Amino acid sequence: MEDRLGQKQGPQVFPSITLSHLSSSAPSSSAASAFFSDDRSGCSRLRFHQPCSPVPVFDLDLQKIQIFKLGLLELLCVTNETGDDDPEEKYFSRVFKIGFNTKDETKAFHLAFEQWKLGVVVAKTGGPLENGSLTTPKSKFDNKIDATSAKMYFHYYGQLLHQQNMLQDYVRTGTYYAAVIENRIDFSGRIVLDVGAGSGILSLFAAQAGAKHVYAVEASEMAEYARRLIAGNPSLGQRITVIKGKIEEVDLPEKADILISEPMGTLLVNERMLETYVIARDRFLIPDGKMFPSLGRIHMAPFSDEYLYVEIANKALFWQQHNYYGVDLTSLYGSAFQGYFSQPVVDAFDPRLLISQPIVHTLDFTCMKEEDLYEIDIPLNFVSSVGTRVHGLACWFDVLFNGSSVQRWLTTAPGAPTTHWYQLRCVLAQPIYVMAGQEITGRFHLVSHNAQSYTIYLTLSAKTWGAGADQGGILQTFSCKLDLKEPYYRLSQPLPYVLQQDQQSNTELMQSQELSPQIQDGTGPSLAIIPSQISEASEQQHKHGSCSGS
Ligand code: SAH
Repeated sequence: MEDRLGQKQGPQVFPSITLSHLSSSAPSSSAASAFFSDDRSGCSRLRFHQPCSPVPVFDLDLQKIQIFKLGLLELLCVTNETGDDDPEEKYFSRVFKIGFNTKDETKAFHLAFEQWKLGVVVAKTGGPLENGSLTTPKSKFDNKIDATSAKMYFHYYGQLLHQQNMLQDYVRTGTYYAAVIENRIDFSGRIVLDVGAGSGILSLFAAQAGAKHVYAVEASEMAEYARRLIAGNPSLGQRITVIKGKIEEVDLPEKADILISEPMGTLLVNERMLETYVIARDRFLIPDGKMFPSLGRIHMAPFSDEYLYVEIANKALFWQQHNYYGVDLTSLYGSAFQGYFSQPVVDAFDPRLLISQPIVHTLDFTCMKEEDLYEIDIPLNFVSSVGTRVHGLACWFDVLFNGSSVQRWLTTAPGAPTTHWYQLRCVLAQPIYVMAGQEITGRFHLVSHNAQSYTIYLTLSAKTWGAGADQGGILQTFSCKLDLKEPYYRLSQPLPYVLQQDQQSNTELMQSQELSPQIQDGTGPSLAIIPSQISEASEQQHKHGSCSGS
């Protein structure tokens, strides 16, 4: 048996039973169907319907029901929930006799009753089924994501400290707040779905902007904290319902006019939560409904950073020792070297390290298919603005809130106020040489894997110059394979980046550069990582990266 972590699924139906209402003044038997499902507040209900009728004849709270076996094909269902429809019944228990066609059906119903009452549905995989056991079909999420990865992922998000890490990214949370409040018109009087609600913060923002009702769907144990946070803000909370479960598996009582979500991971796509966002759109958004954010862009540009290259290469030097307590380590040097270069580097870097204009790859959340995110293939073409050694490809992303009143971007670009996503760099084990004006081509190929992340295949090529160049031969081409799931968080450098690299203080840098207004007026984080940020960053780790298993 699998553990009992399985979440409640959609309604479970027993389509052909016979139902007799024994406590009624005129009991009679009729064909009916029985549904186990959750109501808006997450309470389990047992509903009896007459054939083809969408309205239940009886709608009972499972917690108030007891079931007794009358025989192999009959169960007695007693509820102490009085019927307010019939004044005669007010002070009595209600009793129903349920008839089944087979023994197995009787057992299955009994088991379903027990499990819905407990609040779980047990999914059983592998092996023959016992009579009366239940199977819940694997959801889209379970089919593509490794169970251990998912367990660690939701365990991570179930902890308040990690939600706090995101809430304390004021660039992130402040931009969401501004995007919602400035676009009240998109929320006011609307049904909102918060996809992956976490602490419930975005649901509370939507309620502040006048949402009619917000459904906050959260798969991790954080759902319980979200309930408490929302209950602690009753004027907003009365318009919010928290639903614990995966977007791929829950049901909502109505469609949403607008989705709000923060599904972005490192490099935008890490964690594969954008797929969940797109699934939420297909399952729950009305046609032409809005999405906040509505699109995301990955930006890429080659960079030159000798310090970073040497730092990574040096890590493998340990394996160059011939006499480590009498042991020769050198046979593993090559593998260690490759291993270090297979980790994408996450840190904040100086945008002056970029050697060409970035290129952009856009993902339109409003119309893309979930499958479009399984594999992302981006051809690269740059022109170097300087003669230098190219050490790899730098990447960052932004997302757009395309509000009816105001359009707002949340950017993680180098040089912009730093976010908890920082930026990402893929470093080549072998740098390539370019001259000013020279073309750099290549391919950035992301292939998703079942541990909620991607394998990155990067190729960069530059034509050589000098003899042979006019024959058009590409003489320098380097490829590497990296795992986005295993980044190197380079956030504990002893000194700010700019000081190390340029022997220039932060203040001088700010004077010498054209900087965004937030940086100039001191309201935004500094361009470089300042020491206080460093210690914080190295302690708290990164939300959307370390979470899933490292
Ligand atoms: N919206 C919150 C939290 C964002 S982090 C905020 O902006 O602060 C993403 C959240 O989505 C996590 O809490 C995670 O547990 C949840 N999540 C991820 N995949 C999910 C899925 N398939 N179904 C429901 N929740 C999911």
